[in-house]
Amino acid sequence: MTNPYQDDVLRYPQARDHVLRALARILPPSCLIGKPEAMRPYTSDGLPVFSAMPVAVAIPENEQQLSATLRILNDQGVPIVPRGGGTSLSGGAVPHPQGVVLSLARFKSVRWIDPARRLCRAQSGVRNAALSEAAAPHGLFYAPDPSSQIACSLGGNIAENAGGIHCLKYGLTWHNVVSVRLVCADGTVLEVGEETGFDPLPLVVGSEGLLGVVTEATVRLRPIPPCTRLLMAAFSQISHAGAAVAAIIAAGIVPAALELMDHLAIVASEAFCHAGYPQEAQAILLCELDGIEEQVAEDESCVRELLQQHQATSCRAAQNEQERTLFWSGRKAAFPAAGRMAPDYYCMDGSIPRRALAEVLGTINTLGEEYGLNVMNVFHAGDGNLHPVILLDADDPDQLERAQRLGSAILTACLDAGGSITGEHGVGVEKLDEMCAQFSTTERERLLATKQAFDPKEILNPGKGLPTLRRCAEGGALLVRGGQLPHPELERF
Ligand SMILES: Cc1cc2nc3c(=O)[nH]c(=O)nc-3n(C[C@H](O)[C@H](O)[C@H](O)COP(=O)(O)OP(=O)(O)OC[C@H]3O[C@@H](n4cnc5c(N)ncnc54)[C@H](O)[C@@H]3O)c2cc1C
Repeated sequence: MTNPYQDDVLRYPQARDHVLRALARILPPSCLIGKPEAMRPYTSDGLPVFSAMPVAVAIPENEQQLSATLRILNDQGVPIVPRGGGTSLSGGAVPHPQGVVLSLARFKSVRWIDPARRLCRAQSGVRNAALSEAAAPHGLFYAPDPSSQIACSLGGNIAENAGGIHCLKYGLTWHNVVSVRLVCADGTVLEVGEETGFDPLPLVVGSEGLLGVVTEATVRLRPIPPCTRLLMAAFSQISHAGAAVAAIIAAGIVPAALELMDHLAIVASEAFCHAGYPQEAQAILLCELDGIEEQVAEDESCVRELLQQHQATSCRAAQNEQERTLFWSGRKAAFPAAGRMAPDYYCMDGSIPRRALAEVLGTINTLGEEYGLNVMNVFHAGDGNLHPVILLDADDPDQLERAQRLGSAILTACLDAGGSITGEHGVGVEKLDEMCAQFSTTERERLLATKQAFDPKEILNPGKGLPTLRRCAEGGALLVRGGQLPHPELERF
């Protein structure tokens, strides 16, 4: 078990029994877990190479209990890690070993849907997929759709500014959130959003639980499109698929989704889901068009022409809704399907300009060979949001170290191409060192000052999202030490 906080013991010297006694005064027994065996499911998230046993898990039933929990832990300087579905791929929901996990699992009510205004108010523990399920009877849906949507929560989506396959046309979580209810570190409650002028909502969305705990949000709903068409094109070279993506967008077409899978991803997903993918292909593009029938027909003929121009070896349209779901099922299950290729996988998340797709994919391939590890690519090509999935056996310290170094090298390649170190999975504990590469000292000082303004005692998700200035100054933290993954350094800045 890798403890990302192993050097942090001195900073938060809270005794376990003391914390449990304090929480037991405000939470009923059914809302508090303190036994290590019962807390095991909370020790890690979707990036299991990082894990830690918390002091306690609090599962409040309502906002009063949640606010009181924050107040008491803030008074005592105890770290708090908010947790939604626990699907973060950047170690965002990993517990702090001197801290308390604050689960939003009981905040799962959809408060109301207003079909006329196309708005929905829901608690933050509501699953992403449950929002569209609730909106469907009104002919509406919630557009951001991370592939983890059956498990991840609205609060986690807001904290990570989550994306998904349909975000190319409909925007990320940020574009679909109208307001949030935020409980601050000291337990005070803020309604954020729908303001004119200086509105802190843009700070809160994507803040990775560093500024407050989201308990409710109002989100936009959209009409379910009357017509949807999914095309699957195969290519004998991944660079041809990359060029086709750039050409489709350059032609002024905005598909609802435009996803690319490379050969390894095709083979792994096909074995897992039997989606009907052409296994000999070096790449496939899944291009979904939606809207009114005439527009979709026009876009389809234009896309088919562009695919042909870029040497697609075949192009099939899903014949019905069942086949459309099947084509998507392979894409959505690609990460779990990686388990068929190797015991573990390490999913990266970088963004690049679309024009650099072919070049960066080539670099990733070369880097994979250099580090002796296979890399599978399955990603939101239309957004230029890469997800290189490094295949490894994490029980082998040498492979783990090489995977970590390869991941860093891939993110450096994204930065070199004019991109960013994260597209949608956040920084968490995973990309602290890469933050030093992307942001200047002045920019990081401003970000740290913002965190201080909301959370002066630094109890919310300490050691995540923002590297200390010293960590960046030392620079050497980037390197893996003694076969262990790097850990956040939590000195005061
Ligand atoms: C198979 C798989 C596929 C995925 N596909 C996608 C994808 O397509 N697109 C994408 O964007 N991501 C994807 N992810 C990553 C992940 O699902 C998202 O980041 C998601 O938004 C996390 O939501 P969660 O509820 O699980 O949050 P958690 O993992 O519980 O927490 C994530 C972060 O948010 C904070 N947080 C959680 N709830 C709150 C709250 N109420 N208030 C304040 N902070 C909070 C946590 O402290 C943590 O820092 C995928 C993950 C997996 C495992």
